[in-house]
Amino acid sequence: MKDWEELRLEVEGCSKCNLHKTRTKVVFGVGDTKARLMIVGEAPGYYEDKKGEPFVGAAGKLLDELLESIGLDRGRIYISNVLKCRPPNNRDPLPEEIAMCSPYLMEQISYIKPMIIVTLGNHSTHLLANVDLGMTKIHGQVFNKENYLVFPTFHPAACLYHPEWMKLLKRDFLKFLNF
Ligand code: URA
Repeated sequence: MKDWEELRLEVEGCSKCNLHKTRTKVVFGVGDTKARLMIVGEAPGYYEDKKGEPFVGAAGKLLDELLESIGLDRGRIYISNVLKCRPPNNRDPLPEEIAMCSPYLMEQISYIKPMIIVTLGNHSTHLLANVDLGMTKIHGQVFNKENYLVFPTFHPAACLYHPEWMKLLKRDFLKFLNF
């Protein structure tokens, strides 16, 4: 298996899909590479692309608050995304972008060996839990995969637009304490 720095260098130099042409920075991921808990979002947005770090915009602020509410911070978990480069205008990832980029996430997962992966939103949930039902149906349930558990919940950015989901997201975060 590649070591972590080799993988990072490979991802930072990636030009497999068109997103490399419009990115400012690759957003590889951040946190503890020995963490038991991993959080996987969708793709970098405007601020993440500028800074090279996941979840640093408005959704990131909410994520930090949620983590704080359960006594965790970024240093104790690992945070990454399905796509490592920003889709222009924050459009949805294209299936071919996911197909080309997700092997990097899978390599990150094989290296970190988390016990539980919290998937934020539909794209990471579809990829890692292999379910395609609406989040209102499946959030907060645990999907037992071969090497880890997958726990889907709402994407924080979606909750900023759908305040009625916010309390469900907050409640889901409290469930991590049981793992
Ligand atoms: N939304 C995501 O899914 N990931 C980020 O890193 C930022 C916003």
